[in-house]
Amino acid sequence: MIASRLAGFGTTIFTEMSALAEQTGAINLGQGFPDEDGPRAVLEAAHAAIRDGHNQYAPLPGVPALREAIAEHQQRFYGIELDPATQVQVTMGATEAIAAAILALAEPGDDVLAFDPSYDSYSAAAKMTGANFVPIPLNPPDFTFDELKATPNARILLVNSPHNPTGRVFTREELQRIADFVIEHDLIAITDEVYEHLVFDGLEHIPLSTLPGMAERTLSISSLGKTFSVTGWKVGWATGPAPLVAAVRTAKQFLTFAGATPFQHAGAAALRLPTHFYTDFAAELQAKRDHLCDALSQFTVARPQGTYFANVDVGADATEFARELPHRAGVVAIPTAVFSTDRERLKPYLRFAFCKRLSVIDEAAARLHALES
Ligand SMILES: *Cc1c(COP(=O)(O)O)cnc(C)c1O
Repeated sequence: MIASRLAGFGTTIFTEMSALAEQTGAINLGQGFPDEDGPRAVLEAAHAAIRDGHNQYAPLPGVPALREAIAEHQQRFYGIELDPATQVQVTMGATEAIAAAILALAEPGDDVLAFDPSYDSYSAAAKMTGANFVPIPLNPPDFTFDELKATPNARILLVNSPHNPTGRVFTREELQRIADFVIEHDLIAITDEVYEHLVFDGLEHIPLSTLPGMAERTLSISSLGKTFSVTGWKVGWATGPAPLVAAVRTAKQFLTFAGATPFQHAGAAALRLPTHFYTDFAAELQAKRDHLCDALSQFTVARPQGTYFANVDVGADATEFARELPHRAGVVAIPTAVFSTDRERLKPYLRFAFCKRLSVIDEAAARLHALES
């Protein structure tokens, strides 16, 4: 029944594992969403926007207050200057921005390159465009990449750093290799920076667009969900050179036209929170990472440099291990290989989300620590 473009994109292991969590009462560290609401001031701003009558369609580019706040945010954290009118497009989460960007910038038959494993919407968006998804392996145990090679039809390189599911934060040296590659092969870079503020150990998130020669060929994407613990709001954005942003706008116009107006207003308030909000939140998350990773010491842990996720080499087939784990330890995790086109390479890895309350992380950690490896 389903069109061939979408064959193979049926229900995923997330459905199976969430059902298993429900059946067994296990702690669900499978899916990456927080179990606490975002900052009170941000929630209150959404209430206020509804009360104040911001309830009709937003303009296609997004509400002006949010576009201005996005431009201010890029200036405050990265020194990037943007014109909110032509260089900022608000979207229904980062997911729509990614889909609209690929639809608008790739021809059918073009190659869309992305580091593998990857967020599952990338390959689906490429296929819906009629483009080919070309994986670039990130190699365990440290999830680094070999020499980059272009395919003849390469058009777009997707770069997600901090990276889901591996937790890698690309170094400046790695980003320079990526930039050299993009420039040499005249590609467009699309960056997924939704974890931009969730970086640990004093490391720095460096937007690819800030490297020399990259501003004019990089479309940068981010969203509110992960930074402000409001994943259900689906407010995202694409920023960059006006022609790339205009392309996204054209596709987005006929996907959803606009997103939820009150949440866009609240997004402006969120982005304008003082810098200590951002650093405090990352520090909190880093503590959760440590509680979880320390408890998994009987396994080989790839301690993440950012994101919500830790990957663990369980020394066995992680898919089987994941199916047994709710029964053995009362915890649900996701085999990392589900995010990959090459399941062998990542076979022993299991991904745990640690974006839950510390008491929940500690309970899961105690259960996992009791487990024989
Ligand atoms: C969660 C996530 C997204 C989705 O962001 P939304 O704003 O909810 O659409 C995109 N990319 C990555 C890597 C993610 O982990």
